[in-house]
Amino acid sequence: MSASAAHDHALAPNDLEAFWMPFTANRAFKKKPRMVTGAKDMHYLTAEGRKVVDGAAGLWCCNAGHNRDPIVSAIQAQAGELDYAPAFQFGQPKAFALAARIAALAPGDLDHVFFANSGSEAVDSALKIALAYWNITGKGSKTRLIGRERGYHGVGFGGISVGGIVPNRKFFGSLLTGVDHLPHTYNREKQAFSRGEPEWGAHLADELERIVALHDASTIAAVIVEPMAGSTGVLPPPKGYLKRLREICDKHNILLVFDEVITGFGRLGFAFAAERYGVVPDMITFAKGVTSGTVPMGGVLVRKGIYEAFMQGPEHVIELFHGYTYSAHPLACAAGLAALDVYRDEGLFERARALEGTWADAMHGLKGLPGVLDIRSVGIVGAVDLAPLKDAPGRRAFEAMDRAFHEFDLMVRITGDTIAVSPPLILTESDIGDIADKLAKVIRAVA
Ligand code: PMP
Repeated sequence: MSASAAHDHALAPNDLEAFWMPFTANRAFKKKPRMVTGAKDMHYLTAEGRKVVDGAAGLWCCNAGHNRDPIVSAIQAQAGELDYAPAFQFGQPKAFALAARIAALAPGDLDHVFFANSGSEAVDSALKIALAYWNITGKGSKTRLIGRERGYHGVGFGGISVGGIVPNRKFFGSLLTGVDHLPHTYNREKQAFSRGEPEWGAHLADELERIVALHDASTIAAVIVEPMAGSTGVLPPPKGYLKRLREICDKHNILLVFDEVITGFGRLGFAFAAERYGVVPDMITFAKGVTSGTVPMGGVLVRKGIYEAFMQGPEHVIELFHGYTYSAHPLACAAGLAALDVYRDEGLFERARALEGTWADAMHGLKGLPGVLDIRSVGIVGAVDLAPLKDAPGRRAFEAMDRAFHEFDLMVRITGDTIAVSPPLILTESDIGDIADKLAKVIRAVA
């Protein structure tokens, strides 16, 4: 570490005050920070020189691992060549190249890509495209949006409106009107300790018929779901559930959006979960893994027919009044192209698929440890539900996350009393064993 880097990392306790940390228990953090100062491959590094296993791929995003040479050099080269270019009325080649590469990875005729800078922006963009699509095709009465309980679609007003996480919604007023929610698909009694997609629950998709019957299809624009709900505890879709949603949407002419911000780019062993589940949605939102987390980027994959519907009218007129200053930012595009190269050259999606069985064995091997109520696994994602402490929901998982970091050199995500793990896809069988061992120690420590 250079002298100046060492200096940058040395913070006095009061230096922590100015940064209001997002989705963080600020006071607890600032008393006892969980701080990282470097990273390489499967590990975060701390200022004291500890190597912490990244059991979370950062925040479900660093699928290629950390500080990978091809990605780092692509970003550095891009910064020296073309630092910024607008995507409004002007272009730069890497934006077009990246869009084409992403479209080539997507199933069916999801052939067009609209770029944003985050998952939240991707979701709000997709919802706006859905509404505009019905407007321009003469069905402007189709304005209702349908999300799902326990859905997470980022923090924009659109995203929290269709999202189903109560604390993310209840402080912020009335949100979008005309939104309904499907029931979530988790039922511990019927599904506990299932590997991959649970057998029970496909019928819950039929709730969409009930909502359609209540409002009439002529008022409904789109349904948005995460193929696997990530942020609310790793809930893989029941077998057949997504196909049923697709059938009902087709029957009633409703657009289906898959939010693949977590599941995109290999997490479930395929470029997109849509491919794993054999269902082609009308739009896919993505972010995180597209640049392996290195530079912020998000976007929406859109089916050909939707894009083409917009490409009517006088040629000089803007077709969609929506976009961001940083849409298709050159650094993000360079990072994205390099990340996709790494995924392809190292076969990381196939690797995730090949390791899924070993990963699932390791996760389910934690069954029987004290306080474990359920374990779920799918792709390279795992979740362990801990018995909540009486009158202190979330407290046990918080302690698990904190002790995992400080005592067992493992970074995990928590939500409620669930520990979620989703390491970089470069992991080896020995990393899997190591993560499971550390998790077992953590679970025993907080029992
Ligand atoms: N959708 C899903 C499914 C997500 O998991 C997330 C982030 N975890 C988002 C949207 C929001 O992404 P961002 O934090 O980049 O805005």
